[in-house]
Amino acid sequence: MMTCARWLEELIDRALDRPASAALSAHLATCAGCAAALADLRARADQLDADVRTLVVREPSSNLRSRVLAGIESGPVLFTWAWRTRTAMVGAVLIASIVLVTYDVDALKNERAQSTATASAGAALSHWRAPTDALLHDK
Ligand SMILES: [Zn+2]
Repeated sequence: MMTCARWLEELIDRALDRPASAALSAHLATCAGCAAALADLRARADQLDADVRTLVVREPSSNLRSRVLAGIESGPVLFTWAWRTRTAMVGAVLIASIVLVTYDVDALKNERAQSTATASAGAALSHWRAPTDALLHDK
């Protein structure tokens, strides 16, 4: 069944017990699709109201109080298994990070030392003169 798109918002308002305009009332008298849509929307609104009433009236479970108290009495959260596991994992990650950073710094120092040695060898080569060259210029 098709609902006329033009009337959809007003149909929703009507389903939520807002008064219908004269134009909508006239349309509903002639359009089976919109009349059916209004009936469906009203049914959904009624179901929603019933569900909300059920939620509001519902009591908490009878053992909620004892479960909360047992949780409180089981001791501080600091010494739970989950806390210990989390702490161990954070410690392992921290140690791994320190090892990696240390390794990277050493690798960086070695790389720098090698590039310095290469540069000084290059500098030494740039001053090199062939023996014949030296003999020609000295005279
Ligand atoms: Zn219609």
